[in-house]
Amino acid sequence: MSDALLSNPIFHDETAAREWLEARIWKHGRFCPHCGVVGNSTLMHGKTTRPGLYQCNACREPFTVTVGTLYERSHIPLNKWLAATHLLMASKKGMSALQISRMLGLPYKTAWFMCHRIRESLRENIKGPLGGAGRTVEADKAYIGGKEGNKHKIKRGRIGGGAGGKEPVFALVEREGAVRSFHLPLVTAKTLRAVLVAQVDRRSYLMTDEHSGYKTVGQEFGRHEAVRHYTGEYVRGDAHTNTVENYFSILKRGITGTYHHVSQQHLKRYLAEFDYRYNERQALGISDAERMEKSVQGIVGKRLTYRRPNQRANEQA
Ligand SMILES: [Zn+2]
Repeated sequence: MSDALLSNPIFHDETAAREWLEARIWKHGRFCPHCGVVGNSTLMHGKTTRPGLYQCNACREPFTVTVGTLYERSHIPLNKWLAATHLLMASKKGMSALQISRMLGLPYKTAWFMCHRIRESLRENIKGPLGGAGRTVEADKAYIGGKEGNKHKIKRGRIGGGAGGKEPVFALVEREGAVRSFHLPLVTAKTLRAVLVAQVDRRSYLMTDEHSGYKTVGQEFGRHEAVRHYTGEYVRGDAHTNTVENYFSILKRGITGTYHHVSQQHLKRYLAEFDYRYNERQALGISDAERMEKSVQGIVGKRLTYRRPNQRANEQA
């Protein structure tokens, strides 16, 4: 991890970072983020011109590769953004803003801000339902974060309603596939069903524990098996929730070991971070460098899809 950070110029040099990003974002031609025209722009020259500034020959607007991305208007050099993304993507349990600030020589607040922007950009990458005919999806909930002792007295016990101020997280994992996790402040049959039917193909086999909230919605799926954890049953044939529990163990170790305390407000962003790493995991043959590159392309690729007129792309949060 630190080898790549030391040796790769894109993490040290702003020009190298920009050229790296241009090669990836403009793979199929340099396009104008204002009017969308491809391959019809001219590099601008001049003593006061920013490097990498182009002018569109169609709409005459100037642009760089970062226009409309979360890097736009940022005073943080692009190489530091890429380095922070690399650090988050290469660490299985995440990396604290404090450690990133030390490694990149940035103020703590700046590192904290960057980490949250990167996490936010990893959200919304969801496409289509999980599972399908003959596929198995495991569903489970767990209580995450929230060290009661660290909170201000007045807030104690007021959030979430989970044990010890922890927040309920509901996760769906397709076996040999992807995870999607959700902060679910209220765990009822109704809220569980809302997530399940929106996220899982009805033909899937659904594996859960014996929580009563799964009973009725389970009938809407191809097959539903509920293992009886209360009676010590964890595996019955192919019925188990070991895959989703494994995801939760990575999440809990990361949240407890790396981030110590996660507020209710930011929990969804941390979930996006852990989901992303899990879905682009090494077991699927994805290297740290590939994961980082994919995540950056996701960040930038969003600008045309999510940007509305008069809205800066980095205001979409
Ligand atoms: Zn244009």
